[in-house]
Amino acid sequence: MERIPCPHCGPRPLAEFSYGGEVVPRPDPEPADDATWGAYLYVRSNPKGPQSERWVHIHGCRRWFTLTRDTATHRILDTPLRKEEA
Ligand SMILES: [Zn+2]
Repeated sequence: MERIPCPHCGPRPLAEFSYGGEVVPRPDPEPADDATWGAYLYVRSNPKGPQSERWVHIHGCRRWFTLTRDTATHRILDTPLRKEEA
């Protein structure tokens, strides 16, 4: 069974988590045009290799965190705490 290392609870079964998607930096709202917002909302890089992702421990502590996962091997490379969670 695949396990996800929650930075708050430790390693837990994948079934306890929900995937939140790739980390995409939010554009500055003032100078951003429709194309920039469209890209922010709908375009993803879908890399083969390391990718920063948001996950939530939905059946545990219910907290969001960011981890880096290799999309080719599904190996989790790290789970840094976000600044507001640290
Ligand atoms: Zn947790």
